[in-house]
Amino acid sequence: MSAETASSRLADIHARIARAASTADRRADDVTLIAVSKTQDAAAIQPLIDAGQRVFGENRVQEAAGKWPELRAAHPDIRLHLVGQLQSNKAADAVALFDAIHSVDRLSLVAALAKAMAESGKRPDCFIQVNIGDEPQKGGVAVADLPALLAEARAAGLPLAGLMAVPPFEVDSAPYFALLAKLAREAGLEALSIGMSDDFEVAVTIGATHVRIGTALFGARA
Ligand SMILES: *Cc1c(COP(=O)(O)O)cnc(C)c1O
Repeated sequence: MSAETASSRLADIHARIARAASTADRRADDVTLIAVSKTQDAAAIQPLIDAGQRVFGENRVQEAAGKWPELRAAHPDIRLHLVGQLQSNKAADAVALFDAIHSVDRLSLVAALAKAMAESGKRPDCFIQVNIGDEPQKGGVAVADLPALLAEARAAGLPLAGLMAVPPFEVDSAPYFALLAKLAREAGLEALSIGMSDDFEVAVTIGATHVRIGTALFGARA
C-alpha cells in the first residue's frame, strides 16, 4: 500500500465514522478505530503507522508476536488489540503482548487470564465476546450464559471494559448490535466492540466505542 493510499483510506474511514457519529449525536472521538492487520505484513502495515494510525488488531497471538515487537519499537504509543479467539495456553503470551483482549468467552479463559495478569502485573482491557447470533461455529459466550461469565470475570478481578460481538454474515447487523448494546447497558459496561468494514457506520450509530476494520483499510486479504 502506498503512503497516499494509506492516508486517503484512513481519512475516508474517519470521515465516515464522524458522519455516522453525528447522525447519532455522538462524538467521533468516542469511537476508537482498530485497524485489523491480520495476515498483513510489515510492509503493508507501515504506511498506516506513518499516516498516524496507532491502534491495531490481530487475531492470532503467534502472528502478532512475530511482527509487532519490531513495528512497535519505533512507536511505543501503538496499542494492540487481540480480536481473535484465544486458547487458554496462550493467555500469558496474549497478556504480555496485547493492550486489550476482545475474545474472553469462557470460564477457563477467565481463569487463565487472571493468573497471567497476576503473574505479570500487566492488565489489558478485557471484552467479553458474546455469540450474539447463537451460531454453533462462532466464538463467544451464549447470551444466556453471559451473566454467569460476567460474574466470574468480576470475581476474578479482570479489568472488564465491555462486550464484543461478530454478528451473522449477510444479514442486517443492526438488530444484533442493538441487542449487544442492551446487554452491555444491563451489565453496566461502557465499551462496545462492534462494526467491521461492511457495517461500521451502523455500529457507530448504535453505540460502538471500538470498530474493527481490516478490508476497508488494507484491501482484500489474500
Ligand atoms: C478480520 C476481523 C475483522 C475485520 O474484518 P473486515 O471485514 O476485514 O473489516 C474484525 N473483527 C474480527 C473479529 C475479525 O476477525
